[in-house]
Amino acid sequence: MDQGSITVRGARTHNLAGVSVSIPRGKTTVVSGVSGSGKSSLAFDTLFAEGRRRYLESLPSGARRALRNLPRPDVDVVEGLAPAIALSGRDPVPDPRSTLATLADFHGHLRLVFAHLGTAHCPQCGRAIRPVSPGALAARLLRLPEGTKIEILSPAAGSAAEAVAAAAKEGFVRVLLDGKMRFVEEAAPEEISAAGRVDVVVDRLVAKDGIRTRLADSVELAMKRSGGEIRVLVSRPGGNGIETVDESDRLFCPGCRLSFPRLVPASFSFDSRAGACPRCGGLGALEDGRTCPDCGGARLGPASRSCRLETGPGPHLSLPEALALPVRRLAEWARGVADAAPPAFSAALSPVFEGLLSRLSFLEKTGLGYLSADRPSDTLSGGEARRVRLASALGQDLSGALYVLDEPTAGLHPRDTAALVSLLRRLRDRGNTLVVVEHDESVVRAADHVIDMGPGAGRLGGRVVYEGPVSGLAGAPGSPTGAFISGAEKPYLPARKEPGAAAGFIRVRGARANNLRGADAMFPLGCITAVSGVSGSGKSSLVSEVLGSSLSRKLARGEKRNGGAWYVGCDAVEGAETVRRVVEVGRASRAGGSRSVVATACGAFDRIRALFAATPLARSRGYGPSRFSFSAKGGRCEACKGEGETKFEMGFLPDAAATCEECGGRRYNRETLDVHWSGRSIADVLDCDVAAAAGIFRAVPPLARLFSTLDAFGLGYLSLGQRVSTLSGGEAQRLLLATELSSPACAGTLYILDEPASGQHARDVNLLLRQLEALRDAGGTVVVVEHRPQVLRAADWLLDLGPGAGEEGGRVVAQGTPESVAADPASTTGPWLGRGGYSTGARKTGES
Ligand code: ADP
Ligand code: ADP
Ligand code: ZN
Repeated sequence: MDQGSITVRGARTHNLAGVSVSIPRGKTTVVSGVSGSGKSSLAFDTLFAEGRRRYLESLPSGARRALRNLPRPDVDVVEGLAPAIALSGRDPVPDPRSTLATLADFHGHLRLVFAHLGTAHCPQCGRAIRPVSPGALAARLLRLPEGTKIEILSPAAGSAAEAVAAAAKEGFVRVLLDGKMRFVEEAAPEEISAAGRVDVVVDRLVAKDGIRTRLADSVELAMKRSGGEIRVLVSRPGGNGIETVDESDRLFCPGCRLSFPRLVPASFSFDSRAGACPRCGGLGALEDGRTCPDCGGARLGPASRSCRLETGPGPHLSLPEALALPVRRLAEWARGVADAAPPAFSAALSPVFEGLLSRLSFLEKTGLGYLSADRPSDTLSGGEARRVRLASALGQDLSGALYVLDEPTAGLHPRDTAALVSLLRRLRDRGNTLVVVEHDESVVRAADHVIDMGPGAGRLGGRVVYEGPVSGLAGAPGSPTGAFISGAEKPYLPARKEPGAAAGFIRVRGARANNLRGADAMFPLGCITAVSGVSGSGKSSLVSEVLGSSLSRKLARGEKRNGGAWYVGCDAVEGAETVRRVVEVGRASRAGGSRSVVATACGAFDRIRALFAATPLARSRGYGPSRFSFSAKGGRCEACKGEGETKFEMGFLPDAAATCEECGGRRYNRETLDVHWSGRSIADVLDCDVAAAAGIFRAVPPLARLFSTLDAFGLGYLSLGQRVSTLSGGEAQRLLLATELSSPACAGTLYILDEPASGQHARDVNLLLRQLEALRDAGGTVVVVEHRPQVLRAADWLLDLGPGAGEEGGRVVAQGTPESVAADPASTTGPWLGRGGYSTGARKTGES
């Protein structure tokens, strides 16, 4: 059935050159292209932005008024857009309380299940507290064998003297003073005032036919006059002794005389006052970062935390205990609870269980079964967080929505890609429209429609090079994606360097951080090592938390004082004597303050400012280098504080910005702009692109070298004044590595890169590999955590972790050259080294 399409005409957001495309509804469209070609500008900043704006406009007028200023994307027409949009774009700043369970949106389901099926336990003594209604208790007592003696007591509160006086006034004849029976009229005043506990005897009966009404009335009366509590003394015929039955129709522990409010769904939410631990306010940690001693990090108040689910074959867990399970085990446990739920509940709860189980099974299928449900979202990797949010989208069971997804395969081992593709297909088959920014060849191949952006990045991109079915992509002229698919363009393979030959190895022994199980790993110095394994196998734990942290700590303390105590998370790190510096290129390589621009990030700006300060005009006016800074007072435009734009707040949406009226976006005041170096003002220089800057600063060797290095690695089109925060992930990373390459410090440096190929086109990955090769050949040691076969094949040494994730991983299953790992049957990754990516290239030999 043809559902028509969403059409975009004349999109000019960022580098888009008046792009017009047509996205078939109810189908999957992949947006491909090199990093910086404009994929996100089209998919997120145009299509999604417009969809969200229209959706918000459909809201009631009060909400709309708050959003009046929502910026329109620069586009002529978007037609046929579905109003509801699920996003998965640039990752928003996570709420500090958010966890995997809240992000995947099943925390609410668990709360409902606990509120309906959970059994409260006394937070002090741990005994199960089952509130009982008078009717239910009377029914239970009626089932006692004939001849049983039943005494119905009503526990009294307040002072004993008052309690006895009140009982007398109400006409009761007997009381129990600390368990000893006394007639109200005969009890000695000294004995009354010494009593700790007073129970008023409401009735005494013997079980036989015909007592039903009297028993029910007495139970009700006993509970009513004590505010819900009752004690019943039972002695069976022929039995020896008296049983004491304490009940309450509220949550009350008769042993500890502690009462607490009835548990409702909000009682299990650390976001609500009813649920949050009163000490830490639901944060789990105190302000100084210590785990809250009251809740032990469980974030919930005492009553909520001690409620247990006693339905089902699994262990009787509290909510915090259930959330601490890995998703895979939580799913098993929840299935058991769902199957055993009493019929009265199962009808009402079945949609809740369905939503819960579908989200959990999505997480399992996309390789995230090892993550615990209480894992804080800000410790998830980008790829993990995106798949978690996708689980929540899939669980919502929407149809007719537009989903815009950013590289759902990021961080996913090729083993798990097929499952992801089939889940995306399911989402589409429900009648949703999917727009996926992706590089993974199997996702591209599974698409119904492809929009290939390019051909290059920045100014050299922003156009549609191919639009149509995947089958036409391979032959599409001028399409880098097509060129890789057809094999016309090959993955780059750096010349192999013999691992360990000259420089030896860094050896990590007995690594135990997170899930690692005493792993022994070798990293050849002066080589490129790739660390592979399924998501959650322990790659980052080994490379970042053990190797990186140990060496950083050693270097920070100085070589001399390393008595062994500098190792972190392992027994020893050996052979690292020649490492003089550690540089980690993290998952957040976009980092750098909001003020950071290309010229400051690559370290060129200090030199450029010095050049301006040395001009005759600057000297005669007494302008030093700081006059040419846009982040300090003096030379900058004060209206915008050197930003070139002014921001205005948008309520709960990201701030919007407008060009500064005072300086027209130039960032500086007029006096500063009077100063020219080689015919250009400092603002003119910031407007130049990198390639032009290489020419302009020809006569200043360090700058010329830096800018030509940036240009050689495909960044010639970036302008010196572009904010680093607007660079695509690939651009930001390449900028950082190129800056490193033009510094003499790279010999003796250990570079640690976490999924550097994530979000990058095969052509970008080739550029990255050339950079890594250059870093290595300049004397650096490179360690990359990756899953892309294109990178794994290119490494000198491969360390494969696994075999599985979480508790099933944490061991080195194979290490050696990529060829030897490929041949190793123990390796999970081996089978993917020969396929699962764009066609294999031939390894260069002998060349330099
Ligand atoms: P892709 O998603 O294909 O990697 P983007 O759409 O993120 O590329 O970026 C396309 C180009 O637009 C890049 O050169 C990028 O640097 C530039 N760009 C992105 N966001 C902004 C922005 N807010 N301001 C200026 N330029 C931007
Ligand atoms: P990989 O890099 O291979 O995806 P990680 O090293 O990130 O794997 O994770 C390995 C295991 O350690 C996983 O089970 C993960 O859940 C656990 N883990 C990693 N970081 C943390 C953390 N900060 N807190 C708790 N568990 C963690
Ligand atoms: Zn200004």
